[in-house]
Amino acid sequence: MTDTNEINLPGYEIPPELTGQIAVTTLDRIYNFGRRSSLWPMMFGLACCAIEMIAAQAARYDMARFGMEVMRPSPRQADVMIVAGTVTKKMVPAIVRLYNQMAEPKYVVAMGACASGGGPFKEGYNVVAGIDKFLPVDVYIPGCPPTPQALTAGMIKLQERIDKQSISQVRWYQKGADSVEIPVPFLGPDLIDPRRIPEIKSAAARLAQPATAEEKA
Ligand code: SF4
Repeated sequence: MTDTNEINLPGYEIPPELTGQIAVTTLDRIYNFGRRSSLWPMMFGLACCAIEMIAAQAARYDMARFGMEVMRPSPRQADVMIVAGTVTKKMVPAIVRLYNQMAEPKYVVAMGACASGGGPFKEGYNVVAGIDKFLPVDVYIPGCPPTPQALTAGMIKLQERIDKQSISQVRWYQKGADSVEIPVPFLGPDLIDPRRIPEIKSAAARLAQPATAEEKA
């Protein structure tokens, strides 16, 4: 059973005879309390970091203590994507597609050096230098690999971010707001982010301009 002290706002006097019977709180707080206490991560791993993520879910570290034990094998049922491991160019289109298939509200945790910035493989021919080149990351967890405790600490940071959200301002309840769909990047020898195509085209057009007399000189 929920401890009512967890959702009671400080500053409100509750008569002793009612302590433990009622809770005085705000809509934001009860809304965020429900969401932050039942974060369901998506069940997928990319490399060695995933082993630590698995350990965090097992009996010794037991993320179930924070309401995060129900790992879902479907993006439709997941709240948070833990990007656990090296993001390769081959894999990034699948990761972005899975993110797009998650319902709002959704969050992204970059677990480890690889997911945060490429890690030891940064600038490798096949590796993306961080998933934040494509997805909006809420929490970065350093380490190679981060320990299960570090992952748990990162997830608690995510809970703290959720605590600060307001039901009247979150983007998924704004009038006319649709889920933001990230363009799925192309798979190829060099990965091109379609969001940057206008920028790439204008840079190419600038480069193609004939040189001025001054430049020729
Ligand atoms: S950060 Fe280290 S442990 Fe994690 S996937 Fe990269 S190489 Fe493996």
